[in-house]
Amino acid sequence: MRTKPSPDHRVWRNWAGTAAATPARWSRPCSEAEISAAVKDATAAGLTVRALGSGHSFTAAAATSGVALDLSGWTGITAADTGTGLVTARSGTTLRALGAELAGVGLAMANLGDIDVQTLAGALSTGTHGTGARLGGLATQVEELELVLADGSVVTCSASSRPELFNAARVGLGALGVISTVTLRCVPSFTLLADERPVPVEEVLEQFDELAAANDHFEFYWFPYGRKALVKRNNRLAGRDQPPGSPVPPPLPAWRRFWEFEVMENAGFGALCRLGRASPRLIPTLNRFSSAALSARTYTDASYRVFVTPRRVRFAESEYAVPRESLGHIIAELRNAVPRLADPVMFPVEVRVAAADDIWLSTGYGRESAYVAIHQYTGLPYQAYFDRFESIVGEVAGRPHWGKLHSLDAGRLRSLYPRFDEFRRVRAEVDPEGRFGNDYLARVLGSHEL
Ligand SMILES: Cc1cc2nc3c(=O)[nH]c(=O)nc-3n(C[C@H](O)[C@H](O)[C@H](O)COP(=O)(O)OP(=O)(O)OC[C@H]3O[C@@H](n4cnc5c(N)ncnc54)[C@H](O)[C@@H]3O)c2cc1C
Repeated sequence: MRTKPSPDHRVWRNWAGTAAATPARWSRPCSEAEISAAVKDATAAGLTVRALGSGHSFTAAAATSGVALDLSGWTGITAADTGTGLVTARSGTTLRALGAELAGVGLAMANLGDIDVQTLAGALSTGTHGTGARLGGLATQVEELELVLADGSVVTCSASSRPELFNAARVGLGALGVISTVTLRCVPSFTLLADERPVPVEEVLEQFDELAAANDHFEFYWFPYGRKALVKRNNRLAGRDQPPGSPVPPPLPAWRRFWEFEVMENAGFGALCRLGRASPRLIPTLNRFSSAALSARTYTDASYRVFVTPRRVRFAESEYAVPRESLGHIIAELRNAVPRLADPVMFPVEVRVAAADDIWLSTGYGRESAYVAIHQYTGLPYQAYFDRFESIVGEVAGRPHWGKLHSLDAGRLRSLYPRFDEFRRVRAEVDPEGRFGNDYLARVLGSHEL
């Protein structure tokens, strides 16, 4: 579900309700030529331009007081080679539509995050990731990008053509131009065996490295007042040796998917959250109840159906990538800090892993990461919790997800990203007037001028 302009077609708001803006102008290009024309028109009018995705960033990354480019008319796959796995898609395609179209030609993305309502370009631009110690974020699946630059020209970049622009633009925060098309390296469709079960959190932390190494996709959720974590292990079935005679569980039947994902995880959890918001002193008990109610399930299904789940209960989120070896320390500090907060926490902490990559502003640049995400139910106070979290992850050079709430500025981020200045140099070259700037970029990247 995309966030749409409100009925008066003036105000833009993100999914979480944590950012809003009033663009001077809206534009809905349906071709590359129209994207280019919209950028040139903005220049003529002296306005800035931001491409909009689905509005699922918690930060004001997409917010603009200039021209808002709604790319919901610029979607679909334009080329797919099932031999090489190379697939080109228009930037406004949602991950859900992409997954369904890829399945139709026997292909899939190697990894995905928790949801699939983001647009392809929106997800890439903020460094969206899933989990898997041998896999990087979504941007590591990109082979080529086509961009509309500030002067309206269209350029292609890849590892061999304009490699510096490619290194910057794969996680480009929308600062370098409007991504027009994306060429991804996809993999043959695959089935995942999903195994989810509650495990005492100490046990998960003790076995963290083995769990990360032994599973294609490993993550856990932990309710901060509870003793148990929900450990999720998703493993590819194709080519994996099955112990003789081991039964392969079937996909969840439709009624059970509905019951578990919609009723229990959305409607039921939403009701608990509303109760907690009405009576905050109940939250630690509700949180322990949620933790104790965790149950096991195993099933198989197409990868793109296992990776993602519907998220209808709204929340605020912050997430940091930390060096993997520091995870135990971070969880211990959170465990200590959360019960001391004046405002109790309703939502679980989510922990994922990713391989190191070489993309300049990727949170996984140059190091194996654990991702620690904290959340609070919408309408409940979260600032003190997020500030405390930020000071904990700050001690280990944590890097914030570009699309999730954080307070870091260019001065601090420069010390966290070895290629930060190179990114800024490429930005100054391709967008010397700051056509694609907004307040968020001014904070996290500094001036568009060097
Ligand atoms: C419920 C929920 C679950 C989430 N789960 C995950 C998860 O599992 N893993 C994870 O890493 N993140 C996750 N996120 C964060 C989310 O993936 C990112 O914030 C992502 O950027 C949102 O994509 P979007 O299409 O909504 O983009 P938007 O938020 O609309 O835009 C993001 C940025 O991309 C830019 N942009 C959009 N289109 C273009 C274009 N064509 N060219 C250039 N720039 C462009 C925008 O200007 C903006 O700067 C989640 C968020 C929510 C709300």
